[in-house]
Amino acid sequence: MAGSEDIVQRIQELKEACNGIIIVHNYQLPEIQDIGDIVGDSLKLAKDAASTEAETIIFCGVNFMAETAKILSPGKVVLHPDPDSRCPMAAMVEPELLRKMKSEHPDAVVVSYVNTTADVKAESDICCTSANAVRIVKSLPERKIIFTPDRNLGLYIQRFVPDKEMLLWPGYCATHHNKITVEGLKKLKDAHPNADVLVHPECRPDVIDFADHVFSTEGMVNHAETSDKAEFIIGTEREMCHRLRKEMPGKTFHSIETAVCENMKRITLEKVLRCLENMSPEIELPQDIMERARIPLERMVGIGRGD
Ligand code: 13P
Ligand code: SF4
Repeated sequence: MAGSEDIVQRIQELKEACNGIIIVHNYQLPEIQDIGDIVGDSLKLAKDAASTEAETIIFCGVNFMAETAKILSPGKVVLHPDPDSRCPMAAMVEPELLRKMKSEHPDAVVVSYVNTTADVKAESDICCTSANAVRIVKSLPERKIIFTPDRNLGLYIQRFVPDKEMLLWPGYCATHHNKITVEGLKKLKDAHPNADVLVHPECRPDVIDFADHVFSTEGMVNHAETSDKAEFIIGTEREMCHRLRKEMPGKTFHSIETAVCENMKRITLEKVLRCLENMSPEIELPQDIMERARIPLERMVGIGRGD
């Protein structure tokens, strides 16, 4: 069996042969982050996938992220090394139920987190990510918002737009909602009293209240880089700390070891290699869904600039 160095070399050769680019989310396994041409949060990855000149995108993240790349770059081949790498929160919205809710609230605008299926995006007016959600909702003239699927993110946005009526879908991310608790953060803070607590807006409201700052994953990198603090407790998926430690070796980052998104971990070096050898599995979506889902995504990319 080939060693990981041989696999990485073969991946690089095949990537060059197909004029490819490897795009990687911040929660991927360390060895996957290390082969990424671009590593970032969902907003950065969506924008970079839309603007890259590469002909093939090898997307290492969960399925909705690879779908977003395909929708924004329909002429490119988008490879997803494991089609079963999916975000369970994205599966919490039934398009049929969303259509029903829209018909009950015809004056509401539908804002969907990018963590949704293409079918749900196709029913939405605009998308957002955790990096631009507050800015996007503030930019909308409508007072009534149907927000899918993450209730915690919706409650976080509501803090900044008290005059808006937010109808929140009851979805949640099990990793952030269940594994990141005030109790766990307090223990880390007691052990590291000088550390700043940074959390993701998918966390519960009491966790948001406890934190020093709330950021998307890319926002955490930007904040840690510019902060005069040297120590941080990172309230999001564990692997975020791989990137933070790699880019800021002089600073200290404490992760929550149980905060793991198993779906993100399905992508391995072997699967990336196999996918490049076979040029498959490839993201394929029905043409009409792609065209309808592109509208809210392009509106988001046009409005949001990220934090
Ligand atoms: P980011 O956009 O902050 O990277 O978050 C994506 C995600 O899935 C968080 O759980
Ligand atoms: Fe989905 Fe949560 Fe995993 Fe992010 S961390 S991909 S929201 S399950």
